[in-house]
Amino acid sequence: MTVLAGGTDLMVELNFGRRRPEHIVAIDRVGELAGIERNGHVRMGAGVTYTRMLADAGSQALAEAARTIGSPQIRNAGTIGGNLGTASPAGDTLPVLAALEATVVLRSKAGERRVPFADYMTGPKKSVRRADELIVAAEWDEAGPAQTYMFVSTRNAMAISIAGLAMVVDRARKRVGIGLGSCGPTIIRPADAEGFARGLFDEAGWERPHRPSESAAKELGRLVAAAARPIDDVRGTAAYRRHALAVMGARALSRVAQIA
Ligand SMILES: Cc1cc2nc3c(=O)[nH]c(=O)nc-3n(C[C@H](O)[C@H](O)[C@H](O)COP(=O)(O)OP(=O)(O)OC[C@H]3O[C@@H](n4cnc5c(N)ncnc54)[C@H](O)[C@@H]3O)c2cc1C
Repeated sequence: MTVLAGGTDLMVELNFGRRRPEHIVAIDRVGELAGIERNGHVRMGAGVTYTRMLADAGSQALAEAARTIGSPQIRNAGTIGGNLGTASPAGDTLPVLAALEATVVLRSKAGERRVPFADYMTGPKKSVRRADELIVAAEWDEAGPAQTYMFVSTRNAMAISIAGLAMVVDRARKRVGIGLGSCGPTIIRPADAEGFARGLFDEAGWERPHRPSESAAKELGRLVAAAARPIDDVRGTAAYRRHALAVMGARALSRVAQIA
């Protein structure tokens, strides 16, 4: 089944002749897909656009990611379901969904299944979604305000990310999630960096904002960069991506640790 949500990616594929689907089903007016439910747990319908996320994302990091995407026109049309459908390692919402430990809800005539985001992507533009499955929603537990998304690119708008990083510190659940984009075949979770950050919050007290030392921030950046599996491509070299991730890791920690 080829579905068209916002059409921002699919139209490019059609225009370049990369895909010639026999039938296209437009889903942009399906009400169920356009909803956002929040009650400590967030269920974001696959049809929610980036513009809508700017106002009501249920995640500060997701709102920050939405702000970086494309142009106002792309943000008005592009959806979270489309980002998941394309499953590009450069998709800006995807490191956030990884850091939030989100679940992807898939539905077909055979029923519904829920896939942890960690198991969803299998390679560049590849996922476990079967051809007859519709992405219905993404879900996650509200994690509080200590979270951020940052990326580097050649400019701040209308440019694909060269490296992206989301960090979520859920103070109530004593959990740190980090997601890395554009630096591997899928979105990467740097386990050692997450463990190191947890240790810092254990020491400082999860409930209290603190300013991490420069050496701690630098070490976190080093661990983030070490977990990446970047390649050299037209957008940037692997060495530049690692450097950018180290800088972003250190900055993200300093930023979120100071948010109550
Ligand atoms: C100029 C331009 C700039 C862009 N900038 C960015 C950027 O900065 N960051 C970024 O992440 N992306 C960017 N994109 C890519 C694109 O906008 C996003 O990936 C967007 O999320 C796609 O959403 P859509 O609703 O338009 O998807 P569509 O184009 O409608 O669909 C994309 C793919 O997902 C499938 N699909 C869509 N919805 C579902 C569903 N509910 N269930 C199953 N399959 C589905 C479609 O069949 C298709 O294969 C850009 C695109 C363009 C053209």
